[in-house]
Amino acid sequence: MKIIEHWINGSVAGPGPRTTPVFNPATGWQQAQVALASQADVDAAVAAAAAAFETWSESSLTQRTQVMFAFRQLLVEHEEELGRIISAEHGKTVDDARGEIVRGREVVEFACGLGDILKGKFSDQVSRGVDVHNFRQPLGVVAGITPFNFPAMVPLWMHPIAIATGNTFILKPSERDPSAANFVAELYKRAGLPDGVFNVVHGDKEAVDAILTHPGIEAVSFVGSTPIAKYVHESATKSGKRVQALGGAKNHAVVLPDADLEFAANQITAGAYGSAGERCMAVSVAVAVGGVADALVGVLEGKARAVKVGPGDAPDIEMGPLVTKAAQERVENAVGAAAAQGATVVVDGRGLKIDGHEEGFFTGPSLLDHVTAEMDAYKEELFGPVLAVVRVDTLDEAIDLINANPYGNGTALFTGSGEAARRFQRKVEVGMIGVNVPVPVPMSYYSFGGWKDSLIGDSPVHGPEGIRFYTRPKVVTTRWPQPKQQVAAGFTFPVSS
Ligand code: NAD
Repeated sequence: MKIIEHWINGSVAGPGPRTTPVFNPATGWQQAQVALASQADVDAAVAAAAAAFETWSESSLTQRTQVMFAFRQLLVEHEEELGRIISAEHGKTVDDARGEIVRGREVVEFACGLGDILKGKFSDQVSRGVDVHNFRQPLGVVAGITPFNFPAMVPLWMHPIAIATGNTFILKPSERDPSAANFVAELYKRAGLPDGVFNVVHGDKEAVDAILTHPGIEAVSFVGSTPIAKYVHESATKSGKRVQALGGAKNHAVVLPDADLEFAANQITAGAYGSAGERCMAVSVAVAVGGVADALVGVLEGKARAVKVGPGDAPDIEMGPLVTKAAQERVENAVGAAAAQGATVVVDGRGLKIDGHEEGFFTGPSLLDHVTAEMDAYKEELFGPVLAVVRVDTLDEAIDLINANPYGNGTALFTGSGEAARRFQRKVEVGMIGVNVPVPVPMSYYSFGGWKDSLIGDSPVHGPEGIRFYTRPKVVTTRWPQPKQQVAAGFTFPVSS
């Protein structure tokens, strides 16, 4: 059985006594074991990263830029290979996996512009003979703890920015699909990144707790479910670290009566069932406004039934299996519970069997109608291919519904009205908004982050917020007196003259 090991100081580091199985979700069979790090493994990674920081933080912007350009090129050349590695452990289609690599690569492209991004400012003559300038410096060793659903893209939200700004990085990826992290580590090495700047420790809560409390780690970036995001934020903050912690989601797509129904239903279907609904920006609630509901549900039903489900590496497949058997059972139980609580199951994805993959963790697309805000299918993040339709009378009612939801990651409005779109984007309490765009993931030069329980603390990831997060500012006030020039020292608080 293949063992997936840690990557410390530029090479694989043998596993200790603890491992956990890694499955192929399409077959349902175990395909590898992954090491689970102990405190000693995390200590070794921190020691390697701390030693590397001494030289990497002194490297020139030119050297760092060259590494980023080379790394970007390797991500282009190995997109298909990395896509297949992701698909084999996550279950998503290879094309979908390639999509996440492209979106993650955009962060590397942003980081390639670090020479411009890291420019400080200079103010001449703030007082007579006095100038001020500022610049930003790296923090030191920083860590990222990431979820299973984007094993390449979510870490790529973090490490290119952290490394480009002069930090050294420890990644703790999800133990369910760990191989992408090691592949990326090898690409960095080939790109010329010095050993110890990028490290991977695999593991579970024991590894996470070792990171959260480690005195040698300055900052922690986390993306995952809300309860763990809250735990990470609280624990790491208590240990004096800078923390960014992104949580779960329940994303609503509102459809107004003036929307192009065919267009909206197409977009919502892809947003709901793409990647089997295992996206933090997946559409999980369609809010039908006014008289649009019956027609919308009719079109959505046809499209849900047409989704091609199968193994992620087969051609023409649109939706793969869920990541684990537990996830499959959780999602199917939720559909049953919704029916018991009064929802109409328009399309029932439970019990789907794929020929030749009978033990795979498949469930088909499910469409629920007449869902209300009191039902569990509305309140819980199901993280599966289940779309719930909630019916309301007005746009304001739709906005109230969204604002009462504890999550605020993404939302979308389908309409032909600019006035409605403007009102929606100003009133809705959500961080990322799409107008006729179902999954509005911002480009890398903007930052990514939701509101409320979708982001604990105050720091979104990548883009300008990423630069701010991984660096500390310094402001320097300078005076160069002329030879023998005497400047009176005042005992009152210094003011400009
Ligand atoms: P998860 O919270 O179970 O795991 C995330 C990370 O935390 C993993 O590395 C895992 O090993 C670790 N972890 C799990 N349990 C832990 C514990 N008890 N103590 C310490 N560490 C623990 O999330 P997941 O199931 O891997 O990913 C799906 C979740 O991530 C969904 O809720 C989804 O919405 C969310 N997500 C959010 C975003 C976003 O940008 N807001 C992006 C992607 C995923």
